[in-house]
Amino acid sequence: MQNSGYPQKFDVIVVGGGHAGAEAATASARLGAKTALVTHKIETLGEMSCNPAFGGLGKGHLVREIDALDGVMGLCADAAGIQFRMLNKSKGPAVWGPRAQADRKLYRQAMQNILLNYPNLAVIPAQVEDIILDSSGRIAGIEIDSGAVLSCGALVITTGTFLRGLIHQGENKTPAGRVGEKPAVRLGETLQRLGFMMGRLKTGTPARLDAKSIDWSVTEQQPGDNPPTPFSFLNTEITTPQIPCHITHTTAETHQVIRDNLHRSPMYSGQIESTGPRYCPSIEDKIVRFADKSHHQIFLEPEGLDDDTIYPNGISTSLPVDVQDKFLCSINGLKDVVVKRYGYAIEYDYVDPRELYPTLQTKKIPGLFLAGQINGTTGYEEAGAQGILAGLNAALLAAGSEEFILSRTGSYIGVMIDDLTTRGVTEPYRMFTSRAEYRLSLRADNADQRLTPLGIKIGCVSSIRSDIFDNKINDLNNSKARMQNLQITPNQLESFGVQINRDGIRRSAFDLLRYKEIGFEKLQEIWPELAQIVPAIREQISIEALYSGYIDRQEADIRSTQRDENLKLPVDMDYAAVGGLSAELIAKLSKARPVNIAAASKISGITPASIVNLLRYVKKQQRRKPKVENEAA
Ligand code: FAD
Repeated sequence: MQNSGYPQKFDVIVVGGGHAGAEAATASARLGAKTALVTHKIETLGEMSCNPAFGGLGKGHLVREIDALDGVMGLCADAAGIQFRMLNKSKGPAVWGPRAQADRKLYRQAMQNILLNYPNLAVIPAQVEDIILDSSGRIAGIEIDSGAVLSCGALVITTGTFLRGLIHQGENKTPAGRVGEKPAVRLGETLQRLGFMMGRLKTGTPARLDAKSIDWSVTEQQPGDNPPTPFSFLNTEITTPQIPCHITHTTAETHQVIRDNLHRSPMYSGQIESTGPRYCPSIEDKIVRFADKSHHQIFLEPEGLDDDTIYPNGISTSLPVDVQDKFLCSINGLKDVVVKRYGYAIEYDYVDPRELYPTLQTKKIPGLFLAGQINGTTGYEEAGAQGILAGLNAALLAAGSEEFILSRTGSYIGVMIDDLTTRGVTEPYRMFTSRAEYRLSLRADNADQRLTPLGIKIGCVSSIRSDIFDNKINDLNNSKARMQNLQITPNQLESFGVQINRDGIRRSAFDLLRYKEIGFEKLQEIWPELAQIVPAIREQISIEALYSGYIDRQEADIRSTQRDENLKLPVDMDYAAVGGLSAELIAKLSKARPVNIAAASKISGITPASIVNLLRYVKKQQRRKPKVENEAA
């Protein structure tokens, strides 16, 4: 409900209606807390500040996990999605990344429709100026720009890039939270005054282009998946029309223009000192860091079905507009391009996430929670995932109930929150599958099985979702049990044209799915009754069968990692020989030469998966090494 004449007292107040705020407010309201979402403008609810897309590698897992806890991001992305693609499809299902290009307007409409009609939730358009503490230093409420005070039991701040935001475009600097929107200055000052460890980070966005001015004939078309796979476990199909994206490339001339003008980029002139997202660098950053590359790929992504705006993904920049004009025209297909809005970089304050408990409540101020970009992350999905956890815990705290914590063994949300609260950030944090040590079991396809039961237990899952989930699990368990009871010997299999090891062991239909050459179609030839299993359940069972052996091994790996933290790493270790380490990690480890596994794990950027690779390698080397000392003795 949109609220005028709102009551002054709430159980939970959420500040900021971005991606973290939307999830925090709805999660809190789902738990029955009387919730207010106080944000600058109703029109910008559901605004995508940068790229018009959701999901991707690791990020798609987060959207599914938000959905599994009955969050709203997946539903809105399904309603607005105009090109769905499952990334990494050539690799195992554990690292598939659901992604969708979204129509900006449809996404905003879907989100506003949900938020303005959500039970227990009042949306209040206002600028939050300050937070109010009671005499014991506990959160008591907020002051808004009209001077009014709203009181609450718990407060969630999700102000994104707005805290003392400063936009850079060449030599020009403008205080703003996003282009055309004012920054949150007093709130930033208050958090600093309260003694929070804070820092500055930066991010950037590319120019927006007029589709009519692009020569599409020299670009490569990229279709979406057919049929598209929805994000939400509540949806079985996508009904929004689907359109393709296009791919183009920078040229030698583009690189030359940028190199000639680096001194005018605020990042290189010293005007910006803060760190930007390493995995989403600006085009000037790419040209400097990957100087040997002759061209870079650019995805030309439509911003909507009835919108002529194109988002050129891959060329975010803070260069001045005259340089942007020059380098854009040198890109294949953009010779006569018309720019609708120029790119820019933005610097903003963040709070060191080590100031937070795993509930995202601050350690300093009881009742105060922080979620989203304010905690040093980047991306809608990372923001939404923190939002849902903070919103749930704020409502639980206000009701005097037990906290809700997600572990890194059971969810990507847990991995992210553990990383943030224990390690802090040195650059904007984004999710990758490599951050999770249990990634074979933390899959996008089984997010509902991992999290929906936890959501049902604390009461944040609607009866509709709960019924759909129960039906699915019954169907899955019955089908699996049926398949485990159908058994066959290798000799019998041969009569169906399948040859496996003739060991005389009877294998079940479920076990046989582990063999690459045996799929459901072959099983159906043997047992025609399997035709009754619906496609969605077949896919789920096939994935579970594929991973059933590996998951045991993975868990053993993790236990051994925990045991072996003190394992010594030789000073002359050749990290390039380890296998599975990125070039960046090899360089970092070779430079740091950590003495043992524990020291290696503290190096920034080292993932749990890379620690497992290090362990395997060192142990293998130890087994190979002749025992010189013993021989001498
Ligand atoms: P936001 O989505 O920023 O929402 C903050 C909300 O808080 C807004 O609605 C705002 O109006 C409200 N608000 C702020 N202060 C107040 C106040 N005092 N009172 C009331 N309301 C307030 N992410 C990527 O993954 N890749 C990128 O390349 C990328 N580039 C970006 C480029 C730019 C220029 C910007 C601005 C962001 C970019 N992002 C990028 C980040 C992405 O937009 C954010 O990660 C995501 O939106 C963060 O969500 P959030 O909910 O934390 O904050």
